[in-house]
Amino acid sequence: MSATGIRLQSVHSRIRAAALAAGRDPQSVRLLAVSKTQAAAAIREAFDAGQRDFGENYVQEAIGKQAELAELPIHWHFIGPIQSNKTRLIASHFDWVHSIDRLSVAERLSAQRPAGKPPLQACIQVNVSGEASKSGCDPAEAAALVRAAARLPGLAVRGLMTIPEPTDDPDRQRAQLESLRTLAQDIVAQGGPALDTLSMGMSDDLEAAIGAGSTMVRIGTAIFGPRAVRTDAPDRASSPGQTLPDSQA
Ligand SMILES: *Cc1c(COP(=O)(O)O)cnc(C)c1O
Repeated sequence: MSATGIRLQSVHSRIRAAALAAGRDPQSVRLLAVSKTQAAAAIREAFDAGQRDFGENYVQEAIGKQAELAELPIHWHFIGPIQSNKTRLIASHFDWVHSIDRLSVAERLSAQRPAGKPPLQACIQVNVSGEASKSGCDPAEAAALVRAAARLPGLAVRGLMTIPEPTDDPDRQRAQLESLRTLAQDIVAQGGPALDTLSMGMSDDLEAAIGAGSTMVRIGTAIFGPRAVRTDAPDRASSPGQTLPDSQA
């Protein structure tokens, strides 16, 4: 088996152990392999090891790899910050988008989703840490944004996504992750729409995120190894990718 396949297996073991420790069904957590900055060949290795969902942060980079891998039935997820001038490409090249943080972006994605395709599966990104540098809407605005986006054709709002503040304090980490779950539960309890997805958990906080209710973990480094630092991408600002390689390497 490839090195990527072996690391993928160990991530599946971590997901399984974390789910069981939390009294959850391991099948209730979906694994999204974050392949930003990784070559198409690495994605192919993960695909050959059974992985089907891949997440990308940079539109142009993703489209190049999608063309190289066009024969593979991959579910492509866009997880990076969204610039308005990129929404048309995102709407036409991806199955999921996790990083809607304002209504204008939701409206553009809705209007630009090609008619023949199924609705774009969507999460609203929430800034649970309150850090000024982080993408995501304010938690107080999340319910209104979810409801407005859920009314748009061409979008299927599935849930919430967050990137918590990196911290060594487990209580602080847990509080941030649980605040996303609570927010989703409150939205559903206050009239919906129904939400079935909590997109949270990365290589370093996968266990804590599953303990707090994550249904989709976004894992890069632990599957593909360390990323090369990109210096050429204009749309990389405020992505966690820019500080890597990180401690999981
Ligand atoms: C890069 C990235 C990840 C994966 O991070 P790792 O620490 O490599 O697992 C997850 N989510 C988002 C939004 C990212 O940009």
